[in-house]
Amino acid sequence: MAFAKDLKRRNVLQEAVYHRIKADFDLGAQAAVRTVKKVCDAYATFKANLRAGNYGLEGSKRRIKAESKPVRFRETSAQPFDDRMLTWNLDTKMVSVWTVAGRLKGIPFVCSPEAMRLLAQRKGESDLVMRDGMFFLIATKAKRAGVAVVHVDSSNTSRQCSECWHTHRTNRVTQARFVCRSCGIVLHADHNGSRNIAHRADAAWQRGAVNRPRTP
Ligand SMILES: [Zn+2]
Repeated sequence: MAFAKDLKRRNVLQEAVYHRIKADFDLGAQAAVRTVKKVCDAYATFKANLRAGNYGLEGSKRRIKAESKPVRFRETSAQPFDDRMLTWNLDTKMVSVWTVAGRLKGIPFVCSPEAMRLLAQRKGESDLVMRDGMFFLIATKAKRAGVAVVHVDSSNTSRQCSECWHTHRTNRVTQARFVCRSCGIVLHADHNGSRNIAHRADAAWQRGAVNRPRTP
């Protein structure tokens, strides 16, 4: 819709699709708003990359191809959850999370005492991904679901390029925009930071430095 009708501004797209995506995909209000934001952010980033020449020159085959199709998201790409969509119960060590299949309650999680302290101070959003994730990793196996909480050193995640690892404070151009001085990639600053955190979390997971959920 954003692509087909060229609705790439958040307020315009939201007005056009809000009720429909809520109904068609059975999304809650919060999830619908988040979805619109994610799409608009992605198109803003794409446009910035076009302008920066990362898809080649105007009229080039590569650029025409890139411009000819809508932005797609991976099925397992990270999703931000705010407190209306994800609830932590630290006493019982359970989370309850909104999903397209309804609210899933009583999902156990495990974490280190250090991560537990961080969780207690946590405000706002949590990021949820499939395995490759950020702070919170969900591992789902058949009928069992568990959440592992990974604590990642987040220093320099806003300054480091998630594509080539080049780290410099001037990479972060504005609050919203990240432009790598080394490889030239343009990303939404939040997305770049999230990717760095995801890489670090994945490395921690591979090292086994995670309290993995016990599956009964
Ligand atoms: Zn770079």
